[in-house]
Amino acid sequence: MNIPDIIIAIDGYSSTGKSTLAKLIAEEYSFLYLDSGAMYRGVTLNALENGIIDSEGKIDEDRLKESLKTLDLDFRVDGTYIGDRRVEHDIRTLEVSSHVSPVSAIPFVRAFVDERLHAFGLRKRVVMDGRDIGTTVFPEAEIKIFMVARPEVRAQRRFDEMEAKGQNPVMEDVMKNLMERDYIDSHREVSPLSRAADAYVLDNSDMTLHEETVWFQGLTQGKFGILE
Ligand code: C5P
Repeated sequence: MNIPDIIIAIDGYSSTGKSTLAKLIAEEYSFLYLDSGAMYRGVTLNALENGIIDSEGKIDEDRLKESLKTLDLDFRVDGTYIGDRRVEHDIRTLEVSSHVSPVSAIPFVRAFVDERLHAFGLRKRVVMDGRDIGTTVFPEAEIKIFMVARPEVRAQRRFDEMEAKGQNPVMEDVMKNLMERDYIDSHREVSPLSRAADAYVLDNSDMTLHEETVWFQGLTQGKFGILE
């Protein structure tokens, strides 16, 4: 099966499996996969490493703004880079996770990331995941998916993922972080996490990955017919 040159926007709550589904779609249909959360995580990592966020979590917004003028944040085939440093692992620690939502609620941070994300959208055949892709970044996306899952299922997935990476997660902390991020992400003033009116909701709490891909195929066939 084939699908036309379109943009696919996948939004939803933290740890609903957005990136897993997006990567599968990218592989199956030769789309470019872009993880917009990695950009927000990159900005946050850089701020933490440069003391722009203090130990109490307070963000020095003037210094943050200044740091973005020279921050060389980019996606390459093998992941996210700051300059020549691959930061794919460092941006996914619980420390970055626990500071990323307040950082991404700041309007000039969103403008910085949006500018970079838009450049990729010019290419079409892109699948991008995040929180505001279907509502703000690419409101014109031809397919929009909004992913949800029960909190305990999401926390378990995140916990397993962190363990597999050799981190030592504590379930209570993982759950707390998910709830805090969901709250901040859905209540911020600029581009809050919300379902676009024309997004298809996917609740994958009790679904296997295979079932999700079958669901996606059904959706695209319904939209475009069967294209060889
Ligand atoms: O997708 P991921 O969980 O890695 O995203 C990390 C954080 O980045 C989110 O909790 C959210 O605060 C922010 N984010 C955002 N808008 C996006 C993608 C991510 O605000 N489009």
